[in-house]
Amino acid sequence: MDTYPIRQFGDPVLKQRAREVTELDGALARLVDTMFETMYEAAGVGLAAPQVGMQKRLFTYDVGEGPQVMVNPVVAETAGEWSHEEGCLSVPGLSFEVVRAERVVVQGVDLDGNEVIVEDDDFLGRVFLHEIDHLDGILVLDRLDADQRKLALRELRDRELVDAGRFDSPFPPASRSRPRL
Ligand code: ZN
Repeated sequence: MDTYPIRQFGDPVLKQRAREVTELDGALARLVDTMFETMYEAAGVGLAAPQVGMQKRLFTYDVGEGPQVMVNPVVAETAGEWSHEEGCLSVPGLSFEVVRAERVVVQGVDLDGNEVIVEDDDFLGRVFLHEIDHLDGILVLDRLDADQRKLALRELRDRELVDAGRFDSPFPPASRSRPRL
């Protein structure tokens, strides 16, 4: 099975707004299959099309209930907020405490064009918001406060200094045991 390379922080495709999907055809189904393979190979629990260089509004996910896809997702409702650790497959090596809405209702369609509405007040809702951010060209770094963002960018830039022990990182290292999106 094929996989795509996952686009990394600094790639301009991650900063662009993806376009609505208009054709639910075989090519789209093949793209989704390859995204599933790519997501599982990277031990990710969510993957948005722009992360594999495709400017389409869709993402794949699996929070332990099997592979799922959401096409043209829209956030229909949010309530409350909570902070939780998130790693991003496109921001290697780091994970961050990110504040997001707690209760989330997301509406989209599946590959057959059937309407899908999912409501969640736990980690799945967070996955949806993270992936929809990717579709809007927003990275997890953009959800940090200014100071944290500055530290994170310095760390991404000076990764080799951190690895060499030249300065301490305030961020927990990302690993396969932590969910990455
Ligand atoms: Zn991500």
